[in-house]
Amino acid sequence: MENNKNLRNWLNKMELTHPIVIAGPCSAETEEQVLKIAHQLKETDTTVMRAGIWKPRTRPGNFEGVGALGLKWLQKAKQETGLMTATEVANANHVDLALKHDVDILWVGARTTVSPFIVQEIADALKGTDKIVLIKNPVNPDLALWLGAVERFYASDVKNLGVIHRGFSTYEKMRYRNNPEWQIPIDLQNKFPDLPLILDPSHIAGRRDIIFDLCQTALDLNYDGLMVETHFDPDNAWSDAAQQITPETLKQMTVDLKIRKQEGDAVEFKNKLNMLRTRIDVLDHQLIESLGKRMKIADDIGLLKKKNNVAILQTKRWNEILDKMILEGDENKLSEEFILRIFKAIHQESINHQKKVIND
Ligand code: PEP
Ligand code: MN
Repeated sequence: MENNKNLRNWLNKMELTHPIVIAGPCSAETEEQVLKIAHQLKETDTTVMRAGIWKPRTRPGNFEGVGALGLKWLQKAKQETGLMTATEVANANHVDLALKHDVDILWVGARTTVSPFIVQEIADALKGTDKIVLIKNPVNPDLALWLGAVERFYASDVKNLGVIHRGFSTYEKMRYRNNPEWQIPIDLQNKFPDLPLILDPSHIAGRRDIIFDLCQTALDLNYDGLMVETHFDPDNAWSDAAQQITPETLKQMTVDLKIRKQEGDAVEFKNKLNMLRTRIDVLDHQLIESLGKRMKIADDIGLLKKKNNVAILQTKRWNEILDKMILEGDENKLSEEFILRIFKAIHQESINHQKKVIND
């Protein structure tokens, strides 16, 4: 992608004094709901109101959106509050209807970004547009697929682009509904520093209580903004109830979040340091999570050994692991001494876990 368009222009033109806040319900439900939330958001740092009109559901039987009717409610919300509006489009017909109703920002959902055919259909429908188009990461952790979607819109002469990081699907759900995999958006940002990057903490978290921390991490990583699902009655929302927050909570959150300002050399140094430290924190967190998972498997092995009356220590297996890890360590520029020390400690912890299981 040659760099002859400044993809950041649309954001610069807004002249915001803080990262952009896009907020609003997962789904538009009724006219009253849309208007009530719009007026509440008007009292916060929100610049753009979001609402899903067509909801792509992984499983059938869930609320699939009110459809084109909701676009009129968004239009009214804009007239009454002056907020910009945003909605998800998943085919050329959605694009046509959204443009007719003067929606300001169109976003491509995670289930759409995975499909180059549909992405191309939407890019063709938007050819040459001045509208802002935000592309969510694909549900699967695949940077190329995300970049490919950006390139398709770029090639269609869509000048005002940005991306939304909403996390990646995993088979095993742990802390997050969708794993953040911070390294992927960081790689994307390194490739295209000009492309505004927005965090959607709601779909990463799947629950309210960790939204703040996710937002703070994103700001520490220099993200350009946040898209947060917001509803006056989150528990009774028609979709994604567990992850929505109220406009008041959003307001307090934007007060409590720390924004690292970028001015002058010293501040720049601190910003860079902060960003690198946050990347380390993210990796450390992953290390601990992986170790925890490894010990859970050790527990299962302990149980199996107990049932079959097998000794805990299997020297041959342990030596094989060590040899393999020393080789892999070397490929990753990690010294043999370091690998030995780490794996001895891991092995010891594993034995302790198994002993506990066997003696219980
Ligand atoms: C949404 O924003 O409500 C949504 C469906 O998001 P995603 O495409 O990230 O799942
Ligand atoms: Mn949602």
